[in-house]
Amino acid sequence: MATLEILEFPDPRLRTVAKPVTDFTSELKQLVKDMIETMYAANGIGLAATQVNVHQQLLVLDVSDSRDQLRVYINPEILESSGSQNCEEGCLSVPGIYADVQRAEHIRVRAFDAEGKVFEESLEGMHAICLQHEMDHLQGKLFVDYLSPLKRQMVRKKLEKQKKADKRPAAVL
Ligand code: ZN
Repeated sequence: MATLEILEFPDPRLRTVAKPVTDFTSELKQLVKDMIETMYAANGIGLAATQVNVHQQLLVLDVSDSRDQLRVYINPEILESSGSQNCEEGCLSVPGIYADVQRAEHIRVRAFDAEGKVFEESLEGMHAICLQHEMDHLQGKLFVDYLSPLKRQMVRKKLEKQKKADKRPAAVL
């Protein structure tokens, strides 16, 4: 297993629209494992393949506090959605930035698991929010896209500043 590099906003590769998975190969299973490891190592509650520069419709999530409720969604499709809820969201690809986003409260989703078996389920609360957030990634969309252009500009500046502050002399390990 290996942890993968997570792309960060405004990296243009985060704008790629993912293609459906057509073959459930051992390579795909390995990718799922690496994404799971990457998500847990980064303390994320979800990770979409787009974020690790793989442009296939695949995402993993675990919204539990105990970090033992892992879910894998391949080629996810929202069949129904209703209601609305607001939550302060963050994203591993937009570090240190949090903003309120409105999402559907209840969704019904159909997807495949890593074995290629189709399933359907109804989600609500944080699980529903997280799935919608990760599905946006697969469409090349980020949660900061829901903000006003001015706010998004502020986010971009803040991230640039953070990056500069992170730069240390190469010899210091
Ligand atoms: Zn995200």
